[in-house]
Amino acid sequence: MEALQPAASFKQRSISYACQKYFEQGAQRFVSSSGGNAGLAVAYTGRQLGVPVTVVVPETTAQRARELIAQQGAEVIVHGTSWVEANALAQSLITQNDVFIHPFDDPLLWDGIIPMIDEVIAEGVIPDAVVLSVGGGSLLSGVVAGLNKHGLGHVPVYAVETQGTASLNASMIAQQHVELDCVSGIATTLAAKKVCQNAFELSQQFDIHSRIVSDQEAVNACLKFVDDHRLLVEPACGATLSVLYDQKIQFKLSDQVLVIVCGGAGITLETLQGFNG
Ligand SMILES: *Cc1c(COP(=O)(O)O)cnc(C)c1O
Repeated sequence: MEALQPAASFKQRSISYACQKYFEQGAQRFVSSSGGNAGLAVAYTGRQLGVPVTVVVPETTAQRARELIAQQGAEVIVHGTSWVEANALAQSLITQNDVFIHPFDDPLLWDGIIPMIDEVIAEGVIPDAVVLSVGGGSLLSGVVAGLNKHGLGHVPVYAVETQGTASLNASMIAQQHVELDCVSGIATTLAAKKVCQNAFELSQQFDIHSRIVSDQEAVNACLKFVDDHRLLVEPACGATLSVLYDQKIQFKLSDQVLVIVCGGAGITLETLQGFNG
């Protein structure tokens, strides 16, 4: 239930672990170019560590996201019409003691996710399957590393993407690490044109099954989840939930299915209810 993390997603684990390590190595400022959950987690962690944070976001980043990041005391710079320009400015700001925090492609991020599996095992649960969402592939990387650590590398992992963000699926079909021409749809948190190399390699080595859902299915699952658990999550997370709600995988009744409720701060009930695929 990563949605319950203070920064509203599993990024709390990945980003804070990486930031902690960079802090120990002498980082004096963290720079991020994510207006989403990664940027929020960097801002949150920076405040905890007493390290200044600068987040550069494009003009398209929602006012609400900017506010959430600023509330954590981070400097928010709005620059450019897309992430590409915002990221270029972020990179240009980095001086000697600054560290750029990547949203998904850094082994430290994956290491920070491993305790998620440690905790499940400590609860006495040996999962028969794992279901999770995939954007750039850090969650997948960390969860597979965690399973491996406990000798559970054979456990099937269902990697869920939306139709407009299916970059892992494209690479698995091509059996090559490919990049999508464009990404689209409501699950902006999953919108990586290319997954990290590690995620692609894992898909070739482990029992990873790709699943694709529509935006509408992801949104419907979020709305059901609000009623069932009184908890609002992003469509990026709804994608995973929809696979369960819509019974797209046939599990045995006795199966212990580990569903990573990855969360997300970038959504309002109004946006969900107003969505019409
Ligand atoms: C970052 C994020 C994802 C995607 O994670 P990756 O590691 O990029 O695959 C999914 N859901 C939420 C809520 C996220 O913040």
